[in-house]
Amino acid sequence: MAEHGMRVGQGFDIHRYSDDPDRPLVLGGVRFEGQRGLHGHSDADVVAHACIEALLAAAGLGDIGQLFSDTDPAWAGADSLELLRLAADAVRDAGWDPVNVSCTVVIDAPRIAPHRDTMQDRLNAAAGAPINITARRSEGVGALGRGEGVAAWAVALVAGPSDRQDRAGSGEPS
Ligand code: MG
Repeated sequence: MAEHGMRVGQGFDIHRYSDDPDRPLVLGGVRFEGQRGLHGHSDADVVAHACIEALLAAAGLGDIGQLFSDTDPAWAGADSLELLRLAADAVRDAGWDPVNVSCTVVIDAPRIAPHRDTMQDRLNAAAGAPINITARRSEGVGALGRGEGVAAWAVALVAGPSDRQDRAGSGEPS
């Protein structure tokens, strides 16, 4: 059984743009047609990966590479929403309930705002917990400003057994 209480975890991911013109851009489970894709072993969904990393960190389960090795052919071209689902299951198996995740992505194009609700809904369904997405432009700063890639940061909160009971007793959603 996991220790009681709540824990936070931090996640970060960065992917460079791919030279392959046929590679789609996938962010938060949304496919952006006609946009440059990101290089990666899976679908390179940098938003989903940062969320996975944060959830695993909160549960003390290491990092995404331990669960989904980027040399394992099983994960080649993988749908990262499925990876998020598996990671959230691993967190629950370890005795922790995902409470929420907050993720910020730095990207200049496309605009995220029109797709935010869809991204959040898909991530939420995969993780079984609310995931909030915010987006920022690079303001021309550094490698992200030169359009070399996309980065995302995330923070996750997970609850252990006793805190789940406390929250259920107080009438708050568990
Ligand atoms: Mg990644």
